[in-house]
Amino acid sequence: MQSIPYGKQNIEQDDIDAVIKTLTADFLTQGPKVKEFEDKFAEYVGAKFAVAVNNATSGLHLAVLALGLKPGERVITTPITFAASANCVRYAGGEVWFADIDPDTYLLSLESTKNLIKSKPKGYFKGIIPVDFAGLPVNLEEFRNLADEHDLWIIEDAAHAPGGCFTDSKGERQKCGNGNYADLAVFSFHPVKHIACGEGGMVTTNSEVLYRKLLLLRTHGITKENMEEDQGGWYYEMQDLGFNYRLTDIQSALGITQLSKNKAGVIRRNEIAEAYKNAFKGKIKFQSLPEGTVNAHHLFVIEIDDRKGLYDFLRTENIFTQIHYIPVPTLPYYKQMDYGSANLSNAENYYSKCISLPMYPSLTDDEQSFVIEKVLSFVNG
Ligand SMILES: *Cc1c(COP(=O)(O)O)cnc(C)c1O
Repeated sequence: MQSIPYGKQNIEQDDIDAVIKTLTADFLTQGPKVKEFEDKFAEYVGAKFAVAVNNATSGLHLAVLALGLKPGERVITTPITFAASANCVRYAGGEVWFADIDPDTYLLSLESTKNLIKSKPKGYFKGIIPVDFAGLPVNLEEFRNLADEHDLWIIEDAAHAPGGCFTDSKGERQKCGNGNYADLAVFSFHPVKHIACGEGGMVTTNSEVLYRKLLLLRTHGITKENMEEDQGGWYYEMQDLGFNYRLTDIQSALGITQLSKNKAGVIRRNEIAEAYKNAFKGKIKFQSLPEGTVNAHHLFVIEIDDRKGLYDFLRTENIFTQIHYIPVPTLPYYKQMDYGSANLSNAENYYSKCISLPMYPSLTDDEQSFVIEKVLSFVNG
């Protein structure tokens, strides 16, 4: 059996053709493919606006800036995420505070977040960055209610979750990144995520004000819009200190064909998840699925007491699992600036046991059966 990674991109002939076509087109960057990708992505997730960026980390940076985060201001996120969810706050000079996770969904706990907010005076925190971890959507309606009570903004880190949704209290399906409850959402197009652009990201929102700020900051803070007519055709203004965080047309062309396959990809990911669950039910703990929720399944995470033993054993069988994630507040950079976060015992306990099994649309049934057989043989001793 060939080696089996935990995640893998799926590039087909139509993806290759689309990229090659852009190479001989007029625009390699700042051309029509970028807007086409943005429009199609916004439609897919059900948001009014989408802004393509060169990666999700840049998208998160622009998101906190668009929301006006200032040095010293405090933001809450989950410890079980990729470092970028927290780093964006540091880029703007803010403080990162962590609340605990729910022990069954592995998502930022509403209770723990509420308790952390209530333990401080009003106005202490500015925003919350919940993460749709492993592809499981956060119930953003609940977080919105909490945020409104305390005057906080919300950035949904949806890097794992294009195609996921939860059901709100009115019984309506809310797709990840649709902007109905979060102010902004950020997606990643790193090849290990659902949609591969090489590098790439997207920020979605329903706010035109935030949309305009994102556009400005993505391109140096420079605009040619709404200039006085007699200034001359060359005239532009730099209105803010922005960046070059643009996605190219080459990457956007790939994003468009990749996006068109995401629906089928999420269906396949859920088939794979079902097969894992059927095999592990009653034997191995896996991420729970709240009712009315569709997990986009970037990952399939299980908990095992002898996690290191399983990780090493699977490697000898050419199965390459991964650990998501080392809790961010325990990373040396964050450890040394400990602001005094909440009790994070659920996150610590989760981290001691978690392991992500192979999960990607092109994983074959035979490969998955092999993974399941090896995991069960290890667990059964
Ligand atoms: C991958 C990832 C990011 C960063 O994405 P890039 O496109 O690689 O910058 C941010 N947040 C989470 C949760 C991620 O998994």
